[in-house]
Amino acid sequence: MEEIHIKSSSHDYIVTMGEGIRSTLKAFLKKEYSSIFIVTDDTVGKLYLKDVLGGLEEEKNVFYTEVHAGEQSKDFETFHRLHTTALENGLDRNSLVVALGGGVVGDLAGFVAATFMRGIDYVQVPTTILAHDSSVGGKVAINHAFGKNLIGSFYPPVAVIYDTETLATLPGKEIRSGYAELIKEALITDEASVTSVLDADLNKLSSNQLRMHIKAGIATKASIVQQDERESGVRKFLNLGHTLGHAIESNYGYGKLTHGEAVAIGTLFALHVSEDIFNNELPFNDVYNWLQANRYPLDSSILVETDALINKMKADKKTVDTNIQMVLLQNIGKPINRTISDEELKNYLLSFSKR
Ligand code: NAD
Ligand code: MG
Repeated sequence: MEEIHIKSSSHDYIVTMGEGIRSTLKAFLKKEYSSIFIVTDDTVGKLYLKDVLGGLEEEKNVFYTEVHAGEQSKDFETFHRLHTTALENGLDRNSLVVALGGGVVGDLAGFVAATFMRGIDYVQVPTTILAHDSSVGGKVAINHAFGKNLIGSFYPPVAVIYDTETLATLPGKEIRSGYAELIKEALITDEASVTSVLDADLNKLSSNQLRMHIKAGIATKASIVQQDERESGVRKFLNLGHTLGHAIESNYGYGKLTHGEAVAIGTLFALHVSEDIFNNELPFNDVYNWLQANRYPLDSSILVETDALINKMKADKKTVDTNIQMVLLQNIGKPINRTISDEELKNYLLSFSKR
């Protein structure tokens, strides 16, 4: 087992990584809870709920809800339903919420915990690679028809219990999605991290390699959120690849491309723009070749609706006034935030789609 310690403004917590630890959740809880409410989705529930329940047999009031797998569950209706279930089952202020699943369940159940009786404890039990990102840092949210994650809070978990054994059942698309964030984190860290991630063949990942990459990704995220929990400064650097990534997701329709697949294209774009602006040598080609070898969707038709993409980027909640902010790389490990005019952006999108 491995541990990463995270400091947050409200409390410190530990991310524990290990194989099979979903069956021993109790060992990671620091106090007795009057009830435990497990929230999972109907895919993860089928695979792992039994194991988690097995480890909580001695506990008094344990109950669970399975939401539909997928982003659509981060909505008001599901949020409300979970609160109703919690109330019906007598959840009180000394109860615990367990978020068993990927980022969707983590964000949703975390926001339920943040709001139930003004906030109760919760633990993240991530089951996707992408959730190395969502389970650390304390951002929890649901979506509004106006946009993703618009209703939420900063509310860190009391523990993250990361059973890497569960990652063995992830479909290829979800492995690609998680690895896009790992590349992003490597690019804002250092050259050795980039080389290590680009060494991975996603079809033949060993569990050691996967754990090493996830651990490095969490370490990068942790060091950034500890400096800037509320995203007023350096936390913005974690948005590398996300300006265009979010626009692609939203323009193309959620569900067609995973978040990470869109972020992968966004990250390449950030490398493309950075090379031009800073006139430096960045691993555009290495990243491009790696993404292609690992069958990421990189079809340039994704970029044809230039105006629509620019409008989506402007609608992003990270936009300051009307200018689009992008995270660029002065070098590997040296991210910087920069404002880009519409004109520049349009030209870069054109030259990027031809590259
Ligand atoms: P997800 O939770 O929808 O999981 C992806 C799919 O994989 C789902 O269909 C799920 O049922 C399935 N799945 C999960 N674990 C599995 C397993 N072990 N084996 C087989 N199938 C499994 O999506 P995600 O990619 O994990 O997370 C995306 C969400 O995370 C988005 O809503 C995003 O906004 C959010 N997010 C939040 C933060 C944050 O800081 N809070 C950061 C990044 C992303
Ligand atoms: Mg992301």
